[in-house]
Amino acid sequence: MRSWARELGFSQIGVAGVDLADAEAGLLAWLEQGFHGQMDYMQRHGLMRARPAELVPGTVSVLTARMDYLPPDTSAQWQAQEWARQIDAQQAVVSVYARGRDYHKVLRNRLQKLAMQIQEEIGPLGHRVFTDSAPVLEAELAKRSGLGWRGKHTLVLSRDAGSMFFLGEIFLDIALPETAATSAHCGQCSACIQACPTQAIVAPGQVDARLCISYLTIEYAGVIDTALRPLIGNHLYGCDDCQLACPWNKFAKPAKLVDFQARASWQKNDLLEFLGWSEAQFLRYTEGSPIRRIGFERWQRNLAVVCGNALRQETLVYAHREVICRQLHAWLADAQTSAVVREHIEWALQQAPEPVCQAGVEEE
Ligand code: SF4
Ligand code: SF4
Repeated sequence: MRSWARELGFSQIGVAGVDLADAEAGLLAWLEQGFHGQMDYMQRHGLMRARPAELVPGTVSVLTARMDYLPPDTSAQWQAQEWARQIDAQQAVVSVYARGRDYHKVLRNRLQKLAMQIQEEIGPLGHRVFTDSAPVLEAELAKRSGLGWRGKHTLVLSRDAGSMFFLGEIFLDIALPETAATSAHCGQCSACIQACPTQAIVAPGQVDARLCISYLTIEYAGVIDTALRPLIGNHLYGCDDCQLACPWNKFAKPAKLVDFQARASWQKNDLLEFLGWSEAQFLRYTEGSPIRRIGFERWQRNLAVVCGNALRQETLVYAHREVICRQLHAWLADAQTSAVVREHIEWALQQAPEPVCQAGVEEE
């Protein structure tokens, strides 16, 4: 099974049992504190998330798998390069995992193929595959089956590969021998906690999603608190900061699959390019990408926040300020622009030195 998994592009597999009872208290406490924000589906699935055999009756083992996702041509200095993007006012940064093809389909297809190979070998097999799926406690299953330990940022970390990998699971109705958990290796380090721009890691191993830039820019559908907007910087979609700060990510591995090669637009992360996209262009350029899931309204809202933060930067060249202001005013003049987006645009324009944004109005 390990060699089949490797041929399919997985870096490691493991097997977890279905008794996650000792994870239930932590899950309930997290929900009770409201740390899941608007992710109501987390609450809806309740304790079923910690009970694989209730979610898929008949499940007795869970095969866990991880797949590295750094774009195949990533350089050894990738962490430094990503930090450099964040002080470049001309960029609007998309999280590294989202720069290639939508991993949901890639992983599901390959997990399905792995299940078929097992079935060919042993006969009929009850199974169901998951990846990044709300009802599954996948990081917990990965930890228990030895794919890594939970870092203080809550993500799964491997000594061989840092945390830059996707997780997937196959729920099986056959009993496989469980693989052993690994020990944790965060030690006294707290780099991720210190690096988090919004202090969303409220305690080691606890993230308040309501403060997390990944949640705010991807999952959250409303008006972003004005106190959080400056902290979002130029994060357009997702946030990698806690992973960029993690010393174990110097061992992160490039993807074996070309699917995770970064598309041209996401290599550049050019704010002005993104700002020029119409809704039709957004849909065309994000086809097959996970970014499409947020839709054009959230895309515009996030761009408005990035623009506001760019307009405050002294390093932003005057010509770019003008283009940004002109486009923001054009969106304001467009009857299709939603009230939520308008609110963020008005905030963004207030961040600019006044004469530039007045020029934008006059040119209209
Ligand atoms: S993803 Fe970003 S905002 Fe969220 S916990 Fe990590 S560093 Fe903080
Ligand atoms: S940055 Fe340090 S504390 Fe955070 S996950 Fe990595 S090793 Fe653990």
